Amino acid sequence: MLATSSSPTARRSLVGLGRGALATEMADFGAEPFRARQLWHWIYHRGVADFAAMTSLSKGFRERLAAYYELHRPIVSRTLTSSDGTRKWVLRFSDGQEVETVHIPEEDRGTLCVSSQVGCTLSCSFCHTGTQRLVRNLGAAEIVAQVMIARDALGEWPSPQEDRQLTNLVLMGMGEPLFNYDNVAEALKIVMDPEGLSISRRKITLSTAGVVPMILRCGAELGVNLAVSLHAVRDDIRDSLVPLNRKYPIAELLDACRAYPGASNARRITFEYVMLKGVNDSPADARELVRLLAGIPAKVNLIPFNPWPGAPFECSPDAAIAAFSDIVFAAGYSAPVRTPRGRDILAACGQLKSASVKPRRSATGPHLAA
Ligand code: SAH
Repeated sequence: MLATSSSPTARRSLVGLGRGALATEMADFGAEPFRARQLWHWIYHRGVADFAAMTSLSKGFRERLAAYYELHRPIVSRTLTSSDGTRKWVLRFSDGQEVETVHIPEEDRGTLCVSSQVGCTLSCSFCHTGTQRLVRNLGAAEIVAQVMIARDALGEWPSPQEDRQLTNLVLMGMGEPLFNYDNVAEALKIVMDPEGLSISRRKITLSTAGVVPMILRCGAELGVNLAVSLHAVRDDIRDSLVPLNRKYPIAELLDACRAYPGASNARRITFEYVMLKGVNDSPADARELVRLLAGIPAKVNLIPFNPWPGAPFECSPDAAIAAFSDIVFAAGYSAPVRTPRGRDILAACGQLKSASVKPRRSATGPHLAA
């Protein structure tokens, strides 16, 4: 079992194994149980990507580990920085597929927007990612790696307890997280572990287009905040914006939200509503939204439509968005209009679309950093 060398491709990555899986792996490797805890600390608290740096382990053990395992990160194929400080990393995995991860700094917090799939199968008509044909699920390691790459770039190792630039995590990047539930759940358990990356479930929000059968499980097992991409108040309109609605219509989706474990006035469900000119933005739509949300601890995020090349929609005028917000607000719901972030680097909601489909050879983005 203890070969002195092995080819790099044959080495197994330890990143992405949960605590239990890492313990089992180390037991099979012949290591004592506390070794798994030490490794966990080095990988997820210290962010070390090289066994040689794990100085609390004996040199011989480090060498044995390095012969059998690896810890490497995906390649950052491009880094783009927006004029508003938003950063986008294009990550390339070993099979050449790419996803995008976005960091959005704000005054009192910093949010990392993480992808769960390469591309997306939902084909929402207003979303750029939905036009990407190539799709596969990300593994747990590939989801966790997005957080680790951000920590690398932000210089936040060991995991700081306060004054973090990465305080919040949203599963709002490419893909539908509830179509890749097992890997997302495994990844989030690693991310939430207090002795590692240590991002609390209260700071994590999972956004879904409405995979109704998975919603309750997500709440019960992970306890993260829920966001729902609602976008329309009538089934005929939502059918055309979010085709998944044909399978799980609005009434069923809202019933699942009513039953979401952990939802309360202190922990509201976020309803995302993209403002599309002449499609879903009338005062009557706003009044119907208020009626539909009755009995749900809810807040509404109004998202001005972010354009992308060839998109068949326009953003609602400011006055229509303000009028919509006023109606929802007057009914007692918070209804902020989200300021688009990172639009100049196509990092805003619905603009992510990786080069897995169309290679971008020229470095056209502003402030190209790498
Ligand atoms: N599949 C999940 C996760 C993606 S979240 C979901 O649908 O919730 C991405 C969010 O950005 C969703 O609310 C999506 O509806 C929204 N979005 C997509 N395209 C957009 C666009 N062009 N402008 C503004 N918001 C958009």
